[in-house]
Amino acid sequence: RGVAGGSGGGGALLPGVKNILLVGAGKGGVGKSTVAVNLAVSLAQHGAKVGLLDADFYGPSVPLMTGLADKRPVSPNGKTLDPLIAHGIKVMSIGFLVEADQALIWRGPMLHGALMQLVRDVNWGDLDYLILDLPPGTGDVALTLSQSVRAAGAVLVTTPQDVALADVVRAKQMFDKVHIPVLGIVENMSQFICPHCSKATHIFNHGGGRKAAEMFGIPFLGEIPLDLKVRESGDLGVPVVAGAKDSLEAKAFQEIARNV
Ligand code: ADP
Repeated sequence: RGVAGGSGGGGALLPGVKNILLVGAGKGGVGKSTVAVNLAVSLAQHGAKVGLLDADFYGPSVPLMTGLADKRPVSPNGKTLDPLIAHGIKVMSIGFLVEADQALIWRGPMLHGALMQLVRDVNWGDLDYLILDLPPGTGDVALTLSQSVRAAGAVLVTTPQDVALADVVRAKQMFDKVHIPVLGIVENMSQFICPHCSKATHIFNHGGGRKAAEMFGIPFLGEIPLDLKVRESGDLGVPVVAGAKDSLEAKAFQEIARNV
């Protein structure tokens, strides 16, 4: 892995964390959280110590996707919070702490403060990777958060269509602006394979993620098919890499984890 043992680390902010990885997307709904969760669990399955912080206050979906929706973290000392554990990873989410509609009315600085607390005041312990599921888009909160955590790099998730890709160009520019290397691009929902006849259909077109990676001169990390299992396992709280290890989709996520 390109960033393993790299110098990106948590630095002064999180001395026990070797690499902070961001997962970003130009817009919502492209599967950013799905990629973040499956990437985190894949890395843990390969023996890494992994934390996942869901900073997507627009729709924190990590609690649902990890089966922790009705759990709440506890504080051992009234100051810091213990992350929850699921599928071999440590999990924290803004969704554990506030109602979904509450975070949306906060202004940028308040949100940034809350998210920084989740980075700093959580007992992450020693980690090889802390993966941050960023809010979608290129707004101020994503930008300042990316800047503050001194990440080793970012993984950008997109669907194959042009609209999503225009958003990816903006997201790439955002990371460039804060000097965070984009480690590569993941194309999600890249094709639908019919469960009856195995015919592949490119519902959202195909190949755009690879094209964008070539245009930026960065690695293409892989593509994830559009598949019912991925959505169902997300809703069930058992990521596909944990629940259906040998499926085509799990293998696609595992390949991305190898490529990061
Ligand atoms: P984002 O974080 O970009 O908003 P999510 O990861 O929350 O997107 O995904 C949005 C919805 O799409 C979820 O219900 C998720 O289960 C579903 N989904 C994501 N990727 C896939 C896929 N490859 N196949 C099927 N459903 C998917």
